[in-house]
Amino acid sequence: MRRLSILGSTGSIGKQTLEVVRKAPGDFTVESLTCGSDIDTIFDQIKEFRPKVCSVVNESKALELASRLKAEGIDIEVLTGEEGNITCATLDSCDTVVGAIVGFAGLVPVYHAVLSGKDIALANKETLVAGGDVIMPLIREKGVAMLPIDSEHSAIWQCLKGEKREDLDRILITASGGPFRGMTRAQLENVTLQDALHHPTWNMGGKITIDSATMMNKGLEIIEAHHLYGIDCDKIDVVVHPQSIIHSMIRLKDGSVLAQMGKPSMVLPIEVALYYPDRGPSIVTEFDPFDAAMNNLTFEPCDTEVFRLVKLAYEAGRKGGLLPTVMNAANESAVMAYLAGNINFLGIEEIVFETVEKMESDISRLDLTIDNICQTDKDARIYADELIKGKIK
Ligand code: NAD
Ligand code: MG
Repeated sequence: MRRLSILGSTGSIGKQTLEVVRKAPGDFTVESLTCGSDIDTIFDQIKEFRPKVCSVVNESKALELASRLKAEGIDIEVLTGEEGNITCATLDSCDTVVGAIVGFAGLVPVYHAVLSGKDIALANKETLVAGGDVIMPLIREKGVAMLPIDSEHSAIWQCLKGEKREDLDRILITASGGPFRGMTRAQLENVTLQDALHHPTWNMGGKITIDSATMMNKGLEIIEAHHLYGIDCDKIDVVVHPQSIIHSMIRLKDGSVLAQMGKPSMVLPIEVALYYPDRGPSIVTEFDPFDAAMNNLTFEPCDTEVFRLVKLAYEAGRKGGLLPTVMNAANESAVMAYLAGNINFLGIEEIVFETVEKMESDISRLDLTIDNICQTDKDARIYADELIKGKIK
């Protein structure tokens, strides 16, 4: 039985994690739940799953939730702020932390969870992009498990089971290509926010949906895979596979290629992580090889001259240090500005490129510590936000 703290329980991954728990309540307990500000959703989750503690980052929302729970006769501690996430992530009664917060905000709670010996089931890729050099050695030092939830990384993990690490030659990470697959730069100039939010195969939170449209999601995932599997970014190839049936592949040194397949659903990778090393009950619709979608599995290269953030991510991942932190922070600021309607689609990559270019030499002398990662994230956001102010439509 896993005793879970779910960080970011009201989001797309958080809700699907609770779906897994709901189907097999005897296999899990829910020790704590946290969110940013969606108290309607967390209120219902608390009523259903009865955690010991919960936390809402937004302070006034946390107070409102506490009074609603009290009125309902539910006795639970309601915490707030980033401290609340850390308390939930390090609860004595929990053994596994599900990292389902979006963005860099997920890093520090996960860092504390590892320090206090928790297994980590991780969806929050930004944690590894910015903090992989600190988190992965700590995972090994503490002897805890890193259980990937991101579907490509879950696929790679499943393919690697039973293989010797030295036999891994390359990773072929698949990508749907997003809503703008096949477009030219000129066409990208005219896309709308509504187009960008319309992902062809996956239904996800706003930030990752925009990252899929710019293909930065794949860039972040290359760096995530580099940290999880200790492989150079140059040994990871992006394969655009619009049907999202093959979730990734590995090539072994003898030329064998192993793939993991399934319908696009995050429930399965969440299950694989939470039941590891066992297999859980199937709660996804059965895989049908004769389904129409299966008749035409296609593969194409990623055009990094159109989706330039993928090229930048390779470069940042190759150079390492604090550069991925800067790239990630600038991307978060730019995506938030885009979602707010303040910049246009190609403005996202402009902000990210300019911030990386400006900050690269400033950060080159800094050591890779958790404090420097947090400070660099703040500095990069400040710089990116200034650029955004200059670009507001
Ligand atoms: P989402 O926007 O749907 O949900 C984010 C959750 O984080 C919400 O519960 C929100 O309240 C919470 N949150 C935000 N800031 C917080 C903070 N400071 N403290 C506590 N909670 C906070 O996002 P999502 O799509 O569920 O994605 C979550 C993470 O998982 C992202 O890093 C994403 O890249 C990754 N991921 C998502 C999917 C997917 O299918 N949705 C797939 C693979 C990876
Ligand atoms: Mg993914």
